[in-house]
Amino acid sequence: MTVRNGVFIAGTWSPGAGEVELVERSSADDQVLGSVQSASEGQVDAAVRAAAAAFPIWSATPRAERTAKLQEIADALEARTDEFAELASREVGTTLSISKAVQVGLAVRVLRTTADAMDALPLSEEDENFVVEREPIGVVAAITPWNFPLHQIVAKLAPALAAGCTIVVKPAELTSLSSIALFELIDGVGLPPGTANLVCGTGPIVGEALVRHPMVDMVSFTGSTRAGKRIGELAINDVKKVSLELGGKSATVLLDDADFDRAVPASLSNCYLNSGQVCSALTRLIVPRSELARVEELLIKAAERFVPGDPLESSTRLGPLVSAVQRDRVIEYIEIGIAEGARVLVGGPQRPEGAGYFVTPTVFTDVTPDMRIAQEEIFGPVLVVIPVDNEDEALAAANNSAYGLAGAVWSADRDRAAAFARKIRTGQVAINGGAFNARAPFGGYKMSGNGRELGKYGLEEYFEYKALVY
Ligand code: NAD
Repeated sequence: MTVRNGVFIAGTWSPGAGEVELVERSSADDQVLGSVQSASEGQVDAAVRAAAAAFPIWSATPRAERTAKLQEIADALEARTDEFAELASREVGTTLSISKAVQVGLAVRVLRTTADAMDALPLSEEDENFVVEREPIGVVAAITPWNFPLHQIVAKLAPALAAGCTIVVKPAELTSLSSIALFELIDGVGLPPGTANLVCGTGPIVGEALVRHPMVDMVSFTGSTRAGKRIGELAINDVKKVSLELGGKSATVLLDDADFDRAVPASLSNCYLNSGQVCSALTRLIVPRSELARVEELLIKAAERFVPGDPLESSTRLGPLVSAVQRDRVIEYIEIGIAEGARVLVGGPQRPEGAGYFVTPTVFTDVTPDMRIAQEEIFGPVLVVIPVDNEDEALAAANNSAYGLAGAVWSADRDRAAAFARKIRTGQVAINGGAFNARAPFGGYKMSGNGRELGKYGLEEYFEYKALVY
C-alpha cells in the first residue's frame, strides 16, 4: 500500500508524526487507495509558524505576481484534468464526466476567477476625509470537507493567496490523497516557502489544534454545522475571524405556471448530482398539490436514468457515496422517512449489489415540512416532494428550515419567480434552472453559515479594512 507524505511545511514534504493512520478506500469497490499518517500537534504548530514567517514576504509581493501564481496553479491542474478527475471519482464516487467538469473544472475556474477578481479590486478607496485600504488579514487556517476536495481547498486558498494572506490547509481525512496531489502542483509553481502549507489529519486533533493556534488570524471552514459550531466556539477565545460554509436543505419551488416537463427532471438531476453529496443540493421539491400526480409521473421517468454504477464508466449517471459510514447514514434516513409515513415513490432502503458504498436513489412523496427527512441534511440521493395548496404555503415550506444555503424557483413569469426568490431566506436562488456561476457569491443564511465564498465577494473575506483619516 502506498503511504504518502501528508505534511507540507515551508516548502518541504514530510510524513505525518501523529498517531492516526488515515486509510483511504475506493468508493466503488472498497479497495485501499493509499494511506497517510496524520500530522502531529507539533507539526501543526510548525506549519502555522511557517505561514506567519512567510506572511511579510508574501503580502509584500506585488499582487500581479501573486495572481500570476494562481493562474500557474490553474494551468498545471487543467493540464492534468484526467488524472485528478479519476482520483476524485475513486475517492468520492463522483461520475467521471462530473469529476472532469466540476471536481477539476470548477477548481480551475475558481483559481482563475479569483485571480481576475483580485486584479480588478481597488486596494485603496477615498471618501471625504478618509482613505480605506485593504490589508490581508494574516495567517489563514482552512479546514475543508471531502465532497469536492479540490474545489473546497481552492475556494479558500485562491482568495487567501490572492489577498496576500498565507495559509495552512487541513483537508478532509477521506480525501487526503487528492489534497496532497493538489499541493504537489502548488509546490511546483514555487511560492515563497511557508506561503501555503498542508497538514493532513483528523478534525478533532489536527483541525482543533489549528483552530486554537494563537498565531492564526482567520479560520475558514467548510463542513457540517456540528463541526462549524465547535470551531466557532474555539476561535472566539482569541477573537479570530471565522468564515463558515455549512450544511443545507435547499428547496426547489415549482409555481403553478412552471414548465414542469423541464423543471422536474432538472430538479431531480440537481438533487442527485455527486450522489447527493452537495451542500447546496436542492433536496426538497415543493409543488402545487393540484400538480402532484403529474410531478410524480415525471419523477419516476426521470429517475430511470439514475442507475447506480461504476463512476469510472462513461455511461454511469450515479456513483456510490464516499464511505460505508455515509452509505449507512443515508439508508437510515430512508428508513426514517418510511417510519414517518412518507410514501416511497422511487427507490427505498435496499442496498444495490456490490462491495462499493452504493445506495438506491430514492424519492419520497407526500412529505410534510416538519418530517425529519424534510428538515435534516441527508447528503445522499434522496429527494423529498412536499405538496402545498397555494403560494403562501409554498413560501412557508421553503423557509421552514434551519438552513438557508441555496434554492430554486420555476415560473413561466421570470419576474414572478424573482419576486418569490427574494422572499426565501437563503444565499443563492436559481431562477428557471439558472446555471451555477463561480463569480457569484456562495454562502448561507441561518445555520448554513456566515461569510461568502467565490468571486470578489469571497475575496473580501480575506481583508482587514484600514481607514486613514486626514
Ligand atoms: P465534517 O464537518 O465532518 O468535516 C469537515 C472538515 O472539518 C473535515 O476536514 C474534518 O476533519 C473537520 N473537522 C471535523 N470536526 C472538527 C473539529 N472539531 N475541529 C476542527 N475540524 C473538524 O463534514 P464532512 O462530513 O466532511 O462534510 C459534509 C458536510 O459538509 C455536510 O454537512 C455539508 O453540507 C457540508 N458542506 C458544506 C459546504 C458549503 O459550502 N456550505 C460545502 C460542502 C460540504
